[in-house]
Amino acid sequence: MSQPAIAIHGGAGGLAPGGLSPEREAIVRAALHAALSAGWRVLSDGGSALDATVEAVVVLEDCPELNAGRGAVLRSDGSVSLDASVMVGSERRAGAVAAVRRLRNPILGARAVMQHSDHVLFAGERAESFASQHGVRIEPQEYFVTPLRSAERQSATHSRAASRPSDQEAGNTVGAVARDAAGGLAAATSTGGMTNSDPGRVGDSPIHGAGIWADDATCAVSGTGWGELFMRSAFAHEVDAQLRLRDASLRDACAAALARVRDLGGRGGCAAIDASGRIELPFTTRAMPRGLIGPDGAPRIALFDEALSG
Ligand code: ASP
Repeated sequence: MSQPAIAIHGGAGGLAPGGLSPEREAIVRAALHAALSAGWRVLSDGGSALDATVEAVVVLEDCPELNAGRGAVLRSDGSVSLDASVMVGSERRAGAVAAVRRLRNPILGARAVMQHSDHVLFAGERAESFASQHGVRIEPQEYFVTPLRSAERQSATHSRAASRPSDQEAGNTVGAVARDAAGGLAAATSTGGMTNSDPGRVGDSPIHGAGIWADDATCAVSGTGWGELFMRSAFAHEVDAQLRLRDASLRDACAAALARVRDLGGRGGCAAIDASGRIELPFTTRAMPRGLIGPDGAPRIALFDEALSG
C-alpha cells in the first residue's frame, strides 16, 4: 500500500498580495480547501488518483474566481472557450476536450473521452455532444460569463501584434495531481485559456506533454502559465524526462522545465507529484493559489509567496 497524497493549483498569475479584495480572496481560499477535501475523500475511500484529481478540479471549475468552467476568462469576441485534460500514470492513458463552450465541467468531458472512446482529444461541438452523451451537463454561455471577467476583458492590455500577454492575462487555470493507495498517479488540468485571446486559440492545457503528464514510473504534472511557451517547451514532459533520463529530484526537474519556459520569455508554475508521493508546487509568477494534503492528512494552502499553512 502507498500513502495517498494530492496537490492542486489555481493558476500561476500576476496577482499581487492585496490585489484581491478580502471577499474574493476568501472565495479562492474556500475553493482550495473544498477541492482538497473532495479529492482527499476519494483517496481515503480507496478511490483512484484519477477520480481524486477530477473531483478536485470539478470544485475548482465551479469557483467563479478561477479561470475554468464558470468564471473562465473571455476571448476577444467575449465568448468562453474551455480546454481540459486528464492523464493516468498506468499505461499513460489520456483524454482531453478542447474549444468547448457549453460543458459545465470540461474535466468530466476529458475523463469521458479517455474512458469511453478510442481517442485522446475531442474538440468543439463533437466534444460537447460526446461528453453530454456520457452524462456531462450542458449550460448556456450566460452560465460561464461573470461580470468580473467582462470587466477584465475591457481593461486587458494584450497587444495582439506582439502576441505577448501580460502576467495579469494568464492565470487562474486549475489543476490537480494525486497518488492513490495503489501507487497510481494521475493529473487533471482545466482552463478558459487567456484573456482576450483569439476565440479559436487552444493552449497547452489539453495537450499531453505540454500542460499535463502522468506516468507511474516518474511523476504526474499539471502546468499553468503562458500556454504557447509551455507547448514549445513540452513542459510537463520535460519534468518527466528530467526524472527518467537524468534521475533528477522532482524539485530540480520542475525547476529545469520552468527554466525552459523562462528561456523563451515566459513564466508559470505547476503541481507535481512523483512516484514516492513527494509533492512540488513551484511557480515563477507573483502568485499561484495552491494546496496539498500529504501523509498527515492535513490540508495546507497558500496564494502568494508565503509558506503553505492550514
Ligand atoms: N496555460 C493556460 C493557457 O495557456 C493559461 C494559464 O495557465 O493561466 O491556456
